[in-house]
Amino acid sequence: MAHDPSKKSAALVSACLLGRECTYKASHNGDGELSRSLAAAGIEAVPFCPEEHGGLGTPRPPADLTAPSEDVLDGNGQVLTNTGEDVTLAFARGAAGALEVCQRLGLTRAFLKERSPSCGCATTHVDGEVVEGPGLTAALLRRHGIECTGVEGRRN
Ligand code: SF4
Repeated sequence: MAHDPSKKSAALVSACLLGRECTYKASHNGDGELSRSLAAAGIEAVPFCPEEHGGLGTPRPPADLTAPSEDVLDGNGQVLTNTGEDVTLAFARGAAGALEVCQRLGLTRAFLKERSPSCGCATTHVDGEVVEGPGLTAALLRRHGIECTGVEGRRN
């Protein structure tokens, strides 16, 4: 991914919030308000989709955590698709990829799509319900001191 070192700061951003059609149903959550506020603050948006990075195709079946993401990170839970396929490894690879990008580029902030089992920050999906707590990627980034802000998306 292109990263412009001349910008004074940068942040990881869920790619779907930047208009990339990478959601499970191959749509996006483009958020013009977020893009404009980052640009106005001189912050370069570094797009990243953990689920695509983890090797899942687009479109793909929706997936849910079976336990809070902190437990899944510790090996005490899974990520299952709506047909019961275990995609825990792909989600974990995606989270690790997000962390690797942040560490390589020196990013200390992330703006992530709320409610996603990967990117959710305040809320995510466990067992088919929206619950409080982060998705797997946000949980891993926070463990490593990266500030994660949840964004609803789809604002013009
Ligand atoms: S919410 Fe995260 S994992 Fe889902 S499509 Fe957007 S960037 Fe990818």
